[in-house]
Amino acid sequence: MSDTIIVEVVLKNKKSQLESTVQECVLKYFKSNPISPGCIIKTFPNDIILRDLVECIIIDDVPESQENFIDFSFFKIHWYIYTVNYSKPMVQNEYSSDGEINIATHLVLPNADLTNSWENLYFDNDIKDNLLKYAHTMMKFSDNGIDGNVVTCNKVILLHGPPGTGKTSLCKALSHKLAVRMQERYHSGLFIEVNSHSLFSRYFSESGKLVTQMFSSIRDVIENGNILVCVLIDEVESLAHAREQCLSGVEPSDSIRVVNAVLTQIDQIKRYPNVLILATSNLTKSIDLAFIDRADIKQYLGLPKVPAIYKIYVSCLQELQRVNILDNNVKFEPLSTILKINLDNLNEISRKLLEICEKSSGLSGRALRKVPFISHALFCNADNNSVWDFLIAMDKAVEKEKGDR
Ligand code: ADP
Repeated sequence: MSDTIIVEVVLKNKKSQLESTVQECVLKYFKSNPISPGCIIKTFPNDIILRDLVECIIIDDVPESQENFIDFSFFKIHWYIYTVNYSKPMVQNEYSSDGEINIATHLVLPNADLTNSWENLYFDNDIKDNLLKYAHTMMKFSDNGIDGNVVTCNKVILLHGPPGTGKTSLCKALSHKLAVRMQERYHSGLFIEVNSHSLFSRYFSESGKLVTQMFSSIRDVIENGNILVCVLIDEVESLAHAREQCLSGVEPSDSIRVVNAVLTQIDQIKRYPNVLILATSNLTKSIDLAFIDRADIKQYLGLPKVPAIYKIYVSCLQELQRVNILDNNVKFEPLSTILKINLDNLNEISRKLLEICEKSSGLSGRALRKVPFISHALFCNADNNSVWDFLIAMDKAVEKEKGDR
C-alpha cells in the first residue's frame, strides 16, 4: 500500500512565501472536514485564509482502504503548491498566397482551462497512472542524457482507439499534469497542438515553407531548456493518409514533401530533453509512419465499461447539483461501495443509476457526457430538481442516443 498521498493546492496568486501557512491551513481543514478520495475542493466556507489564497485543492486517488473518507494521519503528504496561467489558447497563423492558415495552437501550462481535466477523465484501468509514470521516466532519461542506442527512449506516446474516448483530452491533461509535477525542473510549460488537418486539407504550394516556419517558432521555445514543451499531433493518420494518396498518385506530389518535412522536424525536435511528443489516432490498424512505429508507448483507449461510466455520470450529476439544477441533498455512493454491496441492498437511486450505466455500454465518453444535457433538454420539466426524475429522463436520453447511432 502506498503511504504517500498527493495534495495539489492551486493558489490564486503567486505568494510562495505563504506556502507553509497554506499547508497548515489545508491540514487543519482536512481535520475538520471529511475528505473523500479523488475529490476537488473549491469552496472553504469556514476558512478565511484558504478562501483568500486558494483556488482549489485536488486530492489524488488514494488506496482502496480509504474509500469513504481519507484519514490523513496514515499518509505522508506530497505537496504541489502552484499557480495556473489564465491565458487562453493562442492560435498560430501563417500566411501563404492561399490566405491565413491556422497551423497550430499554443497553450501555456499549467493552465486554468485544464485544472480539473485529469481528475475528470475516468478509465477502467490504470492508464492514467501508467502514462504519468511513463512520461516522467522519458523526461528523466532524456534530461540525464541517456544514450538512446543503448536504452530505447523515443519520447513519443501514441493514444489510439475509437473517436470520443478521451484521447485528445488525456494528452492535454497529461501535459498539464506533467507541468505541475515537474515544476521543480521546469518553471513553466507549453502545449502545442499541431493542426495537421489544415496542412493537408487543400493543395497549397507553399506548405513546405509553412511547416518550416511553424517548427522554427516551436524551436525558439524549446531552446529555453527551462520550459517543458508537449507537442500534440492529433489524428496523426491524416499525415499517413496524405502520404498514401501521394504515393498512389491521387494527390499532388507537393504534399508528400509537407508530410516528410513534418516527420523530419518531429524527429529533430524530440531530441531536445525538454520535449515530449504526443500523438492520437482513431485508427486501430497500424499507421505507416516511422515516428509512430517507434513510439515508446502505444496505448489503446476503448469505450468505457460500467465502472468508468458510473464515475462519469456521477461527476455530471454532482456538477448539476453544484449549480442547483438538481437537489444537492442526494449523495451518490462511491463506486467502491456500489461494487461491494449486494444489488438488493442498494438504495433505489444507486440501483437506477447502475441500471442506466449498464444500458449505456457501447457509448463513448463524449456521448456519455452529453446524456445529462439531452435528458434536461428533452425529457425533464425545467422546474423539477428531483434526482429520481432526472434519472428517469437519463434513461430515456440513453435510449435516444443509442437509437440515433
Ligand atoms: P477523442 O480525442 O478520443 O476523440 P476527446 O478527448 O475529444 O476524445 O473527448 C471528447 C469529450 O468526451 C471530452 O469532453 C472528454 O471529457 C469526454 N470523455 C471522453 N472519454 C472520457 C473518459 N474516459 N472519461 C471522462 N470523459 C471522457
